[in-house]
This record gives sequence, structure tokens and C-alpha cells, in this order.
Amino acid sequence: MRLFQLPLTKIQGVGPQKAEELHALGILSVGHLIEYYPFRYEDYRIRDISEVKDGERITVQGTIASMPYLQRYGGKSRLISRVTVGSTLVTAVWFNRTFLKDQLTIGREITLTGKWDQRRRHLTVADSEFPDRGAAKTGTLQPVYSVGGSITQSTIRKLIERAMTQFGEHIPEILPEELLQRHALIPRREAIARIHHPENTREGQEARRRMVYEELFLFQLKLQAYRAMHMKQPDGIVHPVNNDEIRQFVGALPFELTNSQKQVINEILHDMKQPFAMNRLLQGDVGAGKTVVAAVSLYATIRAGHQGAIMVPTEILAEQHARSLGKLFEPYGIQVGLLTGSLTDRKRRDLIASLQMGLLDIVVGTHALIQEDVFFRSLGLVVMDEQHRFGVNQRSILRRKGMNPDVLTMTATPIPRTLAITVFGDMDVSTIRERPKGRKPIKTYSVKHGMMDRVLGFIRKEAEQGRQTFFICPLIEESEKLDVQNAIDLHVQLTQALPDMTIGLLHGRMSAAEKEATMALFAAGETTVLVSTTVIEVGVDVPNATLMIVMDADRFGLSQLHQLRGRVGRGEHQSYCILIADPKSENGQERMRAMTDTDDGFEISRRDLEIRGPGEFFGTKQSGMPEFRLANLLNDFEVLEQARDDAAELTASEPFWSSQQYAGLRDFLAREAKQHAEPLD
Ligand code: ADP
Ligand code: MG
Repeated sequence: MRLFQLPLTKIQGVGPQKAEELHALGILSVGHLIEYYPFRYEDYRIRDISEVKDGERITVQGTIASMPYLQRYGGKSRLISRVTVGSTLVTAVWFNRTFLKDQLTIGREITLTGKWDQRRRHLTVADSEFPDRGAAKTGTLQPVYSVGGSITQSTIRKLIERAMTQFGEHIPEILPEELLQRHALIPRREAIARIHHPENTREGQEARRRMVYEELFLFQLKLQAYRAMHMKQPDGIVHPVNNDEIRQFVGALPFELTNSQKQVINEILHDMKQPFAMNRLLQGDVGAGKTVVAAVSLYATIRAGHQGAIMVPTEILAEQHARSLGKLFEPYGIQVGLLTGSLTDRKRRDLIASLQMGLLDIVVGTHALIQEDVFFRSLGLVVMDEQHRFGVNQRSILRRKGMNPDVLTMTATPIPRTLAITVFGDMDVSTIRERPKGRKPIKTYSVKHGMMDRVLGFIRKEAEQGRQTFFICPLIEESEKLDVQNAIDLHVQLTQALPDMTIGLLHGRMSAAEKEATMALFAAGETTVLVSTTVIEVGVDVPNATLMIVMDADRFGLSQLHQLRGRVGRGEHQSYCILIADPKSENGQERMRAMTDTDDGFEISRRDLEIRGPGEFFGTKQSGMPEFRLANLLNDFEVLEQARDDAAELTASEPFWSSQQYAGLRDFLAREAKQHAEPLD
């Protein structure tokens, strides 16, 4: 019986109307209902009243000791009765339960659940039951579900119970026996029954442990199966890499590569030579020199007769890459094009045509790259820069513009390895661990507002050495318009205060051409100070800039501040970062401390996690973290690692792909693949 295809109306007492209401909660079938888990439990286990604390919600058992007394006021009512609980005389108070009055007879046993007022010995009753009538809730943990519309808590409890009675025996086991045994997990059917109705806390935890493992295992199974299938299917592009050519190209670079860079280039080129499509993540802190690694890889694909695409999150970055790659590749006759949303129709058409005909070798672009009408003659390598800004879907759309091209994703947002395996379980990871030689740590200071004179002095000092400054404006959340106004105001202020300097202005409301011109002037050293909104947050590379000033730094998140700081310290000169922050913002000060303590991206991301807590850290879209129903990545990551090892081991074994024993899991993979219309990526 396929529970996920079984309509809700098969449950006794569920008609089309009720089914409709359940649909609104995302419950589409009997299977969905059975797996609609409670998010907490209400405790109806009987407590000893002498041990409870004031204000607690408790359940106690007692005997009615006095005739009930009914008070009415303004259409409402209050019912009061004394109840002996052990040796304590409790005043039980019900609100708006007039109908109970006749049932409260002296000497009758009753269980009361409610909030305890220790001083007055009052119990405000939320729920009461009579043992002589069964008292179904007493002594249990009652599940609490998320409900809405006309579906109440008691309706959904009843329906789930009924569904379990009618169809519970058809819940299939999905995990292989060997894994259940290895980790001492209870069977699926039992786990689901106990999640809804645990006898006690331990049982609830056991049930949860089983389901969390399953959830993480199935998630890992998708990633590992994808990987395993790739290892089997040599349907990628073989790039015959000529080492001498690569060496010459690298030798012509204006600097010597760090050992770390050489190492990751070797890893990438090794993948590119293989007949399997590369799926590799390149991690490296801001300023570590990822672009040049991408450039060498692109060079290899072009030498092999293919094209390369590099996708970035902002136009400014696209223009920068187009400019620098264009210059780098010019001596080799390699053509680099730029595709962004602000091209004229005509230019866009021409560009797409030359891509299609293979006249362009490399295209740098924003989201504009993944539009439907963009085709390549032969796409060999896809690079995604600042990967954390893109969704998985965008990555796979770009990949599908070729025949299994190699994919290199790059990120400066390092996440702890244990967590990296969740999101990147299907990728190989390369890490650039060292910065280019001669880089000095960026000196970071946190100062109060109202120190503008000193800040201006700092800008002048740097300018005298021929260096340049970024000045980031206050950030007004949710209001780009105010951000822009701030930038304009600050620009006026600085122009007056520093009359002998050229001050540039950059913000999101400028046209693409204006932005490009402004950036080009700054990059060429024509402007000394660039006032900007956060549009320059990621990727921007002007090695002669040595001073980063951030206004209202306490409004920025830690990772964002680290990214901003990463705009300086990209050359051999000593660089500085001045964070102007409100000393009264406690949380802000904590972030400023983290920034002044370290400029190591891994450490920063660890502190970020600590300060913000997992909910917010992983909750943001930027984190790229998948969401789980029961699992919590922070608490359950040991289970996650275990699940990953198990899934990898299983998918690497021959029987997994053939034996009847694993048919259920293979079905699951096939269903998932169909649902996402993209092979398990
Ligand atoms: P990111 O990793 O943040 O993308 P970039 O690739 O933009 O960093 O590199 C930062 C700067 O360092 C650039 O100006 C780049 O030319 C320079 N650079 C990269 N590798 C080296 C190296 N090995 N030696 C010196 N400078 C380098
Ligand atoms: Mg970069």
C-alpha cells in the first residue's frame, strides 16, 4: 500500500471538506498525515504537588473537597472548587466551564492540569479529567501539532490516531537492516507511533533519534548516490591538459603563485583531465587569490577547444573580472565577453550569437548568463564566484548549458568542515590556506562616532603615501533609497572636508555605465576616496586601496564586515580597517571585538555562529543550508557525519545498485530525482 498516494478520505470520518482543510496544512495524503510530527509535547504525567515550583504547568490528582462555586461577570464565568491533593488543599479555578459545575461532586476523583500559584495555592485549570470516565490524557505526553484554519489540536490528534490505527501496519521500513542493527535503531513503524505518543521522555528520544538518522541518511544518500553515479558514468569532458602550456601561462603571470594556489590548481586540472564531470568547491579567505586559479582553469578549457563561463553575483564584479581576465588573456588571442542585465538588446543579441558560434572564448556574467536563450558552442568549464550568493538551482541551470561541463564553485565564506559536508557532500573541496607572500595582517580599529577629524587625518596620511580609501556608508536596512541618500550626503561632506582630493561616489541607483566608470576611475587611482554603499561588498579588487572605513559598523553582520574588510590588504602595503560603531550596542561591540581580534575568515565565521546562534546563522538564505524537519544541524551533526559515512559506503557497494534488499532506497532516489527534474543535484 502506497501511503503517500492514499487519499485522506480513506480515513474514517474524513470527507472531502476535511481533506481540503488538511491540504491547506500541506497534508496531502494518509502518508503525509502519518508523518505530520508534533513540534512539542504537553506533559500530563502526574506530579507530586510538594515538589512543583511556582508558575509551573502541572498535572495533579486529587479529590473534590467542596461544593463548586460559580461566579459570573460580564458574560464570562469562573468556577471555583477546593480539591485535596495529597495533604494540600488546592483552590482550583476554571474559566468559562460552567457546564462542569454539576460534575464536581464532593468526594469524586479528578485530575487537574494547569498553572500553579504557589503562594495562594491556586491552580488555574486548563484541562481536567475524571478517572471514573477514563481520563485518556492523564499520565501521558500529548503531542502538540502545528494547526490552522478549522483544524484544531484535538481534531488533528484524533485524525492521526485514526490513521495510525487504520494504516499504521502499512508503514514500510526504509532503512536496511544492517544499519538498524549497527546503530541500534527502532523500526520505522514503531518510531512513528512513538513520536506521536511517547510513553516517556526516553522513548520519545529514541523515536526521534531513529527518525533524525533516517532524515540525515536519506539526505546524504542523495548526495552520495549522485557522486557514485558520476564516478561510474564517464560522460564528462576530457580536457587534455598540456602541462608545458600551463607552466608557460603561469610563468607569465605578474606574480608567483603561492604553494596553496599551485596545489589547488593541480587538483582542479587533475579533475579536468578525467572523463567525469568535475564538481569542486574552492574555499579561500578574502584576498587569498581565487580569481587567478579560475583563470588558469579557464585557460586549460580553452586550450582544449572549449569555452568557459564565469558567473558572479554583482555587475560591478562582472565588469571587474571581464576587465582583468580580458587583460590577462589578451596576449593569447583569447576573447573575453561580458553579459549583464544592462546590456542593450542589440549588444546582448550579438554577444549571444558569438557565444553560440564559438567566437567568444570566455563569458563573464551575472544572472543574465542563465537566461533561456543563452547557448554555447561548447561549454567546457563553469566557474561560480562567490558561490554562497547563488542557489543550487542557478548552478545547475548554468551547468546544463553544456554537456556535463566541469564545474568549479568558489567561496570566501568558510564554514566549519563538519557543516560543509552537509551542503557540499556531493563536491570535492579544495582549500587555499595561505595568503600571497608579503601580505601584512590588516590593522583593525573600532572607534566611536564623532571622531571624524581623526578619520579624515587617517585618509590624508594614506593619500600622502599614494594610497586610496573606501568609505562605506551607513546601512539602512530595507531602504535602498535611504542608503543612497546617506552616500550622497557623505560624499558632499567629504568633498568639503578634503577639498584637495578627488572623491568618488558609488551606489545601487546609478546606471551600470556610471558604476563602471566610477569603479574604473578608482581602480586606475584617479579617485583617492570612494564613498560607497555595500554594493562593493564582495569581490572588488583594488590592491592600491589600503584603508577601509565602515560607518555604523554595528549595523553589519560579522561575515559582511569581514567581506568589506577584505577589500583592502590585497597588495603589499600595510592596510587598515576602521569600524565606526555605536558603543552602546552591546551585540555590536561583541562583533567589533571579533573583528579587532582576528582577520582569519574561519575564525570569524566560528564567532559569527557563536554570536548569532545556529537559528539565525543557518536561517539566512546566504548560508545555503538545507532545512530539515526533525534534525538540527548543530546538535545532530555527529549523526550527520555517521549518516554520510554510511551513505557513502552503501552507494559505493555493488549490491546497492542491484540487490532487491535496496529496492526501496533506489525507489526513493528515483522519486526524488523526478521531483526535482534534475539528477539529484
Ligand atoms: P579573492 O580570493 O578574494 O577572490 P583575488 O583573486 O581577487 O582574491 O586576489 C586578490 C589580489 O591578490 C589580486 O589583486 C590578485 O591579483 C592578487 N594575487 C593573487 N595571487 C597572488 C600571488 N600569488 N601573489 C601576489 N598577488 C596575488
Ligand atoms: Mg574574488
